[in-house]
Amino acid sequence: MTWNLVPQYTALLFAAIIWIYSREDNVIPTLKNRLFRMCLRMTVLSMVFVIAALTMNARYGEWPIAVLHAVNILALFSTVLVTLTFLQYSMAVIWENEEQVYRNLKLAAIPAVLCAGALLSTPATGFIYSFTAPWGYMPGPGFGLVNAISILHLAAMVAVILLNRKKLQRSLFGVLLSFPLLGLTLALVQEFYLRQYMLSGVSTTASLLIVYLYLQNKRIVVDDLTGLQNRTAFRQVLQLRLQNKQIFHIIIVSLDSFKAVNDKFGQTRGDGFLQSVSRYLTDIVPIKYIYRISGDEFGIILENKDSSAVQLATTAIHNRFREPWETEGVSYILSASIAVAAIPVHAGTLEEVISLLEHCTHRSKTDGKGKVVYADGTMVSKAHRKRRISEALEEAIVSGGFTVHYQPVYCVREDRFTSAEALLRLDHPDFGSVSPGEFIPIAEEAGLMGELFYLVLDRVCSFLRLLEQKNISIDAVSINCSVPQIFQENLAENILRITETYGIDANKICLEITENTFAERNDLITGIMYDLGQHGIQFYLDDFGTGYSNLSTVVKLPFEFIKIDKNLVYEATASQKSLSVMKGLAAAFAESGMKVIIEGVETDAHREIAATVNADYIQGFLYARPMPEEEAAACLQQGRFSDGHNNS
Ligand code: C2E
Ligand code: MG
Ligand code: MG
Repeated sequence: MTWNLVPQYTALLFAAIIWIYSREDNVIPTLKNRLFRMCLRMTVLSMVFVIAALTMNARYGEWPIAVLHAVNILALFSTVLVTLTFLQYSMAVIWENEEQVYRNLKLAAIPAVLCAGALLSTPATGFIYSFTAPWGYMPGPGFGLVNAISILHLAAMVAVILLNRKKLQRSLFGVLLSFPLLGLTLALVQEFYLRQYMLSGVSTTASLLIVYLYLQNKRIVVDDLTGLQNRTAFRQVLQLRLQNKQIFHIIIVSLDSFKAVNDKFGQTRGDGFLQSVSRYLTDIVPIKYIYRISGDEFGIILENKDSSAVQLATTAIHNRFREPWETEGVSYILSASIAVAAIPVHAGTLEEVISLLEHCTHRSKTDGKGKVVYADGTMVSKAHRKRRISEALEEAIVSGGFTVHYQPVYCVREDRFTSAEALLRLDHPDFGSVSPGEFIPIAEEAGLMGELFYLVLDRVCSFLRLLEQKNISIDAVSINCSVPQIFQENLAENILRITETYGIDANKICLEITENTFAERNDLITGIMYDLGQHGIQFYLDDFGTGYSNLSTVVKLPFEFIKIDKNLVYEATASQKSLSVMKGLAAAFAESGMKVIIEGVETDAHREIAATVNADYIQGFLYARPMPEEEAAACLQQGRFSDGHNNS
């Protein structure tokens, strides 16, 4: 049969173009990237061998028979190797784990090894093909074996992709599946319709093109704005270095409050500043070590085993941020928090490294911005604990694994508990009871506060219904509402929907907000408070005395209750002056029609302070501790606080 090799030549041309264009791309030597290059090489080599073999076979008689055998064996075996390499590449994309890929590959390679044996024995046995005068190349009884093994590889590829589809994003799943399907389709087309056309090269080159466009393209790992490598590349390189047990340092440069820079100068100039910073970093460190890992964050991975070069780079960067940055005619002093970690001294796995870096940059920001923080051993355990708590929070939101405790609040005038504060509790399987002081900031960072609010509200409504059923009277239960919670969209509608579901009056719900809420968004908070107030929801100003709000703002906002923070109470026990200030404040609030609650009353001395300042309500361990639902119900039923009684 005379083969038409035009499709094969065209495919070879396309493969060569991909080879040239991808030369500079994605140089990170991950298994996936190495295998892509291998697929490319194998495809080109195989096409060259197939073209050579078919051309030489057509001129049988002009070549020594040994040469003909060598070229035919190479051509046939290389087609098997091409599909095997593609199978290996798919596994690398799915598992990203070298060991797992090689374990499975050993199994997949068995048919290929058998095929090699059959091919090598063919010159003697004529099993796959033979050269017989005067016809030349003749298929042997085992001719179908080569195609069968290639088809087996393609089928294995389909099976591996389908079995692991849950791990893959939809688009990736489609891309991976497209190349075995393409190979199988073209093999069938060639078999049944275009027998004289050699299409194997077309299908592999088309597959290469798909992989190149969707998975191996340079744009996937390069940041458009700065031309630096991006977060994906950063993670890949970290993973690879950790796998190879290399010693290295990471420097994170995180711009502080960059949103404010964008707001002040506009997005274009904001981009200009980012480009200036990136240019500066490339001046002091070769570009291949620098990454833009988020909008306003750069990462540098340094191979240096000794820390002096790292220290030098860190100091240079830190000092540079004392000087202004220029872009499009404007000049501005940016602030950057810097974190430095030695790997693997400070962390050993990718997740550990990432959470350590997040922890360090967070620390350098909370330490006052513009600071350099060097990771140490304690940070790793802190970062680890934080990550575990964050995971536990997410789980608890789904499974409802939180408890809400209630701390009864004593009303001086009525001499009984008339309300309670809802306080969230998280029990961690490893760390035991985690205090809200620790997990609330983590939930805030993880963006979980919205869901937490409704979870608490739901429990509170159920508690209020329980009290109603038991005929226990209570004025209200207050819920702590932090900044991201109070500014949620449709807050009033959602609260009413939940209270209605439980058949609870909305005026049984109070919200506690702190001074930082209106320090941040003074303009918005008034509207929200009036809106919720229309439905009977009342407001407590919590922890008064710990923030920086001015009194005139507090008085203007519709607060029914002011909770004076426990630290003010403790100070007042030690200082007559503090006591006088507190007395004056409490009187001023009372005169403005607000009720005063004193928090943190633990001792008789604290109680005396509450009496001196004429507090309307008292909350504290001396009266009642926060307790689980049933206990709190019993405490409220008992109602009366008998002097000297301590619930602790
Ligand atoms: P907070 O709103 O000021 O709550 C009062 C805190 O003081 C509670 O701590 C309570 O157990 C504690 N406390 C009560 N009486 C005394 C006392 O006599 N002495 C001392 N030393 N402490 C007393 P807890 O439960 O650890 O909560 C801490 C903070 O966590 C709360 O302060 C609140 O800001 C926040 N929080 C708790 N639950 C929630 C929630 O559901 N949502 C939100 N956004 N924040 C919450
Ligand atoms: Mg509170
Ligand atoms: Mg408080």
